[in-house]
Amino acid sequence: MKSPLSLLAVALALGSGDTVMGFEPPGPVERRLAIGPTKSLPEVLRRALAPDEDFLPIPAPSAIDWLAAHAEPGQTFEQFAASTPNRPDAQRGAIYLQPLGEFPASQSPSLGTLRECAAAYFQMEVKTLAPMAVDTNKVSTRVHPATKKRQLLAPDVMALLKQELPADAFCLLGITMEDLYPEPSWNFVFGQASLRERVGVYSFARYDPVFFGQARPDDYQTLLLRRSCKVLVHETAHMFGLQHCVYFDCVINGSNNLRESDRRPLRLCPVCLRKLQYSAGFDVIKRYEALERFYLAAGFGDEVRWARKRLGKLKS
Ligand SMILES: [Zn+2]
Ligand SMILES: [Zn+2]
Repeated sequence: MKSPLSLLAVALALGSGDTVMGFEPPGPVERRLAIGPTKSLPEVLRRALAPDEDFLPIPAPSAIDWLAAHAEPGQTFEQFAASTPNRPDAQRGAIYLQPLGEFPASQSPSLGTLRECAAAYFQMEVKTLAPMAVDTNKVSTRVHPATKKRQLLAPDVMALLKQELPADAFCLLGITMEDLYPEPSWNFVFGQASLRERVGVYSFARYDPVFFGQARPDDYQTLLLRRSCKVLVHETAHMFGLQHCVYFDCVINGSNNLRESDRRPLRLCPVCLRKLQYSAGFDVIKRYEALERFYLAAGFGDEVRWARKRLGKLKS
């Protein structure tokens, strides 16, 4: 298996990872240790990182879930900081999104809304590049035998992205409505990234029930947007050097299947919030305020209520 630091295969092909290993959800002491000492931090940040009842422990995985198949030791805040991860700075301070191929309005998340999501979440400048057509001279493709849909070879896309990494980019994320595969022997992949080279590519194709021949629910647009926001913030967080969260119920939890992704919240736990705040240096109150506005516009009622609850505690 490739090192998670050099190459993150963000979802395994179907049929792999079937060895069930024991994962015991950490208890409160271990969760607190993962957050690390907060005494020397400003009062508001200390409150933001207190593991109160707003943060649920990670649930025990079922047999087909990520932690049943992947023995992940977890990454405490202190381990994260000691890993000297990439951090945005004055020269490389923007997150870039590169749409690849078509984003038909009726079946795709809005690019403008995805940009707003990332801007609120990371409190950084987010720029969307002009859409890039899929050049089949440069990107290998194949038709998947079961879905009959075209797939793009993810490493070819990453090679293109590396060439166009803007000088002021913290990272460049390719996003596409087409399905991806990481190598010919694999079935598919949701996305792939190189932390060292600060590029990644993610597909939203499998978040549409129609992809699997299922009917779209009435709230389909909200469902697709929520799934797309989750993958966007999860994968962007990997670019900051965050490894999967094994402590709390958190958007940085690994996911092996769509049911597990849907169950995951869109929010960060205290361990992962601390890591991102350490890297991006944002004001936690301003961030929750921006997220509350974004969630309200997006129709994510549960996340609006949660952000308000957090703001109430931080501002009191
Ligand atoms: Zn991941
Ligand atoms: Zn977390």
